[in-house]
Amino acid sequence: MLEVVKSSQQLIKESNMRLVFRLIHKNGCISRADIKKITGLSATTVSSLVEALMADGLVEECGVKDSNTSGRKAVLLQVCADGGYFVGLDIRKNRIVADAFALDFTSVFHTEVPIVKGQKIAMGILHAIGMVSRNRRILGVTMGVPGVIDTKNNRLLSSTVLDAEDARDVYQTVSEAMPDVRVILKNNSGLVAYAEKEFGADEQVKNLVSIDIDDGVGAGILIDGKIYDGSGMAGEFGHISVDFNGERCQCGNYGCLELVASIPAILRKTDCFSMDELLKKLEANDKKAEEAVSSTAKALAFGVNNIVNLIDPEFIVVGGQIRTLGEFLLEPLKQCFDEISLIKDKYIRYSVLQGNPVTMGGAKVVFDSIFGI
Ligand SMILES: [Zn+2]
Repeated sequence: MLEVVKSSQQLIKESNMRLVFRLIHKNGCISRADIKKITGLSATTVSSLVEALMADGLVEECGVKDSNTSGRKAVLLQVCADGGYFVGLDIRKNRIVADAFALDFTSVFHTEVPIVKGQKIAMGILHAIGMVSRNRRILGVTMGVPGVIDTKNNRLLSSTVLDAEDARDVYQTVSEAMPDVRVILKNNSGLVAYAEKEFGADEQVKNLVSIDIDDGVGAGILIDGKIYDGSGMAGEFGHISVDFNGERCQCGNYGCLELVASIPAILRKTDCFSMDELLKKLEANDKKAEEAVSSTAKALAFGVNNIVNLIDPEFIVVGGQIRTLGEFLLEPLKQCFDEISLIKDKYIRYSVLQGNPVTMGGAKVVFDSIFGI
């Protein structure tokens, strides 16, 4: 069992406590009097809630400001960034990426652990959590997995990237090992969409679709500001067919987008070992590379058009390793999309997020789950 310091989950069960905490978190520096004004809670209630949050190490005093009425100085409060941490995990084909975030969402530790053949994925996950936790007080963990999740029972049902049999019960293993910590299992693409909204350039956006092109091809769907999971398999964008006469995919469908637009598929088509190598070929006007990227862009444009026709998001954000190709991919993708779509100039752009969007989105999702109203 992992060693974790006592959690705050008991303390923050009360909704007023969460309300006050979020207010302090959002405002940076705020006085008890202002909290009283904004929340409408009594001065005594605010004082006792703040006292409890301070005793738990989540909030600290951060200076004084002059009160304009009595001339007395009002003590300001802020979140204690190292009062608790969140771990975000991005579980990929061959490795587990783990980031620990402080309460203010700064990334404090990052590691990557290989998935070793013959070893249970859950053991690798616990090892990665242990490495980034380093005896810090972990409040929540989110595991982002590429696959279909039974959201009622927190089980991985299927995945074309992971060994689904092995990874099926990772939630149960991790939550049993960390009984005081909030554990969440989510599809990785949904977490990317959430990170785009929370940390991207378009904070106000409510409906967006983020397309993630790496080992696989997935889409995260955000509707009315919330991740849309469907019954657990929404966003399996890679398994939209773009050629019903095409090759059979392991999902059962024919001509899946993932077979032509995932990074391994692109590298196979172009006889390249890495995206950097492919980029060099494109820069040198290599015809074979150009044709392969242009056919990938076309397949993606048809896929994006299906999304737009169904959901009509405000934005389509493209992320993942595919971004290495820059305008070599984005330009023909936009061009082809404009030729086939009902509405022209739909905003398709690359993600500008720095850091890993799966772990960032995961940290924010578990923060909201713990401190949400
Ligand atoms: Zn498929």
